[in-house]
Amino acid sequence: MAATNNPAHSKAEIVSIGSELTSGANLDTNSQWLSRKLAEIGVQTGWHSTIPDDHEVNLTSFRLAASRAGLVIISGGLGPTQDDLTRETMAKLAEVDLVFDEASWVAIQEMFSKRNRICPERNRVQALFPKGSEPLPNSNGTAPGIFMVHNGTILVALPGPPREMELMWKNEVEPRLLKADLGKLGLGGGFLARRTIRTFGAGESAVEEKLLDLTKRGAEPEVGITASNAIISLSITARGESPAEAQSHIAPIEATIRDRLGELVFGADNDTLQEAVASLLEELKLSVSLAESITCGRAASLLGAVPGISEWLAGSLVVYQAKAKERLLDYPKHLLETEDCVGPETAKFLAKSVRERLGTDIGVAVVGYAGPGDGGPGKPAGLVFAAVDDGTEISSEHTQHWHGSRSEIQHRTALMTLNLLRLRLLAKKSATPKNPLQSSVNSKESR
Ligand code: ATP
Ligand code: MG
Repeated sequence: MAATNNPAHSKAEIVSIGSELTSGANLDTNSQWLSRKLAEIGVQTGWHSTIPDDHEVNLTSFRLAASRAGLVIISGGLGPTQDDLTRETMAKLAEVDLVFDEASWVAIQEMFSKRNRICPERNRVQALFPKGSEPLPNSNGTAPGIFMVHNGTILVALPGPPREMELMWKNEVEPRLLKADLGKLGLGGGFLARRTIRTFGAGESAVEEKLLDLTKRGAEPEVGITASNAIISLSITARGESPAEAQSHIAPIEATIRDRLGELVFGADNDTLQEAVASLLEELKLSVSLAESITCGRAASLLGAVPGISEWLAGSLVVYQAKAKERLLDYPKHLLETEDCVGPETAKFLAKSVRERLGTDIGVAVVGYAGPGDGGPGKPAGLVFAAVDDGTEISSEHTQHWHGSRSEIQHRTALMTLNLLRLRLLAKKSATPKNPLQSSVNSKESR
């Protein structure tokens, strides 16, 4: 396998085949998955092509891909039916015959008998391979994959069903690519390490402003910034000759980011805001109750998804209409008149009231306008107020920045509320040494 001097050849192309993908019936997720896997072994993806089950289009696409990429990963079209054209097209591209592989045919028949099904003769075509190529066993299905080298370009065909494709990648393709020495093939090589820092409480540009030297183009390690549901994430990508070396470049950048962003950072990788809150409650041994109006229980629902939270979360009252606020939490007439249930004093009152009613260390409340329409003049959708009452101090936050659908506003508001609680807990953590005698919600039966 000769290295190529063409810089374009240093990239990979992914070709996903299926009319169900181009018609829009199904989403091509294989390309995303494969690009990530390629990145992990240091190979950049230059192109994604999604094409229908069509002979001419397949051949043209394979030719184009093989001419511009050093590595072509094809997914789909390996089934036994007439619209499965990958084997044939690969043979045509290389101008070789299809040859029958007895071992693959035996494996296909065994796969059927393992599932107590008779193997149709039609499946014999799945044991045909372009001459000179290598069959890749499929331990999750019938269609074997194909590993072929044509004019210095590696072409790999994988089955379309994601479960089969992923397992074949892991068991058969990745080891072969690593053994082939991607660096020598001009495909980059090396290893990637990745770490994502999760933040809440500031917008994308405000976060980036503190990190401009890290996020500038061409910086190594690379730091990318993305926003989803008001959570701003910073992904650090580092390269190295070994996985450990790549990993070693991450730590100093992560430390700098954490240092500059301080309390905005709530976790890393797959950590969630609710997990951060739950672990602080656990660490400080503090119980909490909520009074939710605009979010209708969503904040409690997020928190309730964390295992072990039953010890610290007493409950959440969905006090949606004024009537519920009055009857369940003694919401007073004067606040109804001045704030009409949406305002900072309302949030504070409800936080205090729910804390007392449920007998918890902390009470949290949130009110606001979810939209889509405004609540009246000066009451825009997305105007929300949250408060946290711990018996000695009340913190509150309001926002009128939430844009989006009703559901998005409710979700972001729930996160904002949990974040306000998190900040209060962090303040308590730094202010007071641990007090083991503080109460928790006393029994599991209380749920
Ligand atoms: P193969 O012959 O390689 O096994 P196929 O072409 O026979 O694949 P299909 O019958 O077209 O596979 O698809 C099988 C399943 O796999 C379908 O649910 C399809 O949506 C899914 N699938 C195929 N390609 C992709 C892709 N690129 N991304 C996500 N799902 C895919
Ligand atoms: Mg298909």
